[in-house]
Amino acid sequence: MNDKMNETLNAPEAKAEETAGMAAGKTADGSENLLDVRDLTVEFHTDSGIVQAINGLTFSLTTTALAIMGLINCPPGFYKSGEIIYKGKDLMKISESEYLKIRGREISMIFQDPMTALNPVMPVIDQISEVIKNHKHISAKEAREEAIEMLKVVRIPPERADEYPHQFSGGMRQRIVIAIALACNPNLLIADEPTTALDVTIQAQVLEMMRELKDNFNTSMIMITHDFGVVAETCDKVAIVYAGEVLEAGTKRDIFKNPCHPYTVGLFGAIPNLNEDTEFLYQIEGLMPDPMDLPKGCPFAPRCSCAKDICHVEKPCVSRLPGEDHVVKCHKYTGSDENAEIVNEEWRDE
Ligand code: SF4
Repeated sequence: MNDKMNETLNAPEAKAEETAGMAAGKTADGSENLLDVRDLTVEFHTDSGIVQAINGLTFSLTTTALAIMGLINCPPGFYKSGEIIYKGKDLMKISESEYLKIRGREISMIFQDPMTALNPVMPVIDQISEVIKNHKHISAKEAREEAIEMLKVVRIPPERADEYPHQFSGGMRQRIVIAIALACNPNLLIADEPTTALDVTIQAQVLEMMRELKDNFNTSMIMITHDFGVVAETCDKVAIVYAGEVLEAGTKRDIFKNPCHPYTVGLFGAIPNLNEDTEFLYQIEGLMPDPMDLPKGCPFAPRCSCAKDICHVEKPCVSRLPGEDHVVKCHKYTGSDENAEIVNEEWRDE
């Protein structure tokens, strides 16, 4: 999440704010947030059972992104509880016609795979101008002119405007998807693994371009990624999500310099160290829990080498740690004094 998100998206802090007794929905300086995701729970009711995709979450991954965009199909998806407050309005309570005005214009999304995000039988210029025409209610000619400008912004030669998606490389297709997402200058851009389908060199170029555009367009961005390198390059705030819950959140510095949750520590441990000669890479033992049958206590307990009895029966609360906005959901921590996290007595000898 970028700097503007520090001010605007206070989701990871929502629980911490309860602890600190601050007013939810406002930043530290008292101004309204652009977006608050509060205690959101989304389930999918399938033939095999109920999949708990998001569990009382403040902020989460792809399903949350789709939930924010109002793109969860009901059924099988159900917004069970929670709020998605955008500019003071709960998006879960607005009508589809109101959503149509926000989606694409104020909140946009870059999907993972540009080939499936683009219409294969439509020239790319029409796909960009369609968004502009629908939201700005201008003529087809004017929309095309604006779309050509967007192509230039993402460094696609305008003379290729009438070509089809299959005629472009993967990196160019992703840039076209970015052009569509930014065409109406949205307040909030949700990028779901935007560089996964690209090779490393193109990934660096696309990330660089996204950073530039985000700054130039003054857009807030939520980046969903499995790649800590991408986080290091693009984000200001980080939320570590497991089994539909935020387990640790803080500034990039908090998370990279002082990872506390055993899952976060495990993730960092699994990054290969170029200066070490190891035969086997570290891996976190075990597998993700079945979302239809989540553990009763801490969701990470079956895989956690620090787990104690309490972890298997009781859900951990959120504890605030030293650092600007550093919070963790783990029984091991009970809070912090000014400089150090306070470790629960049971874990002190470890
Ligand atoms: S609550 Fe217990 S099981 Fe969960 S991460 Fe912390 S120590 Fe491990």
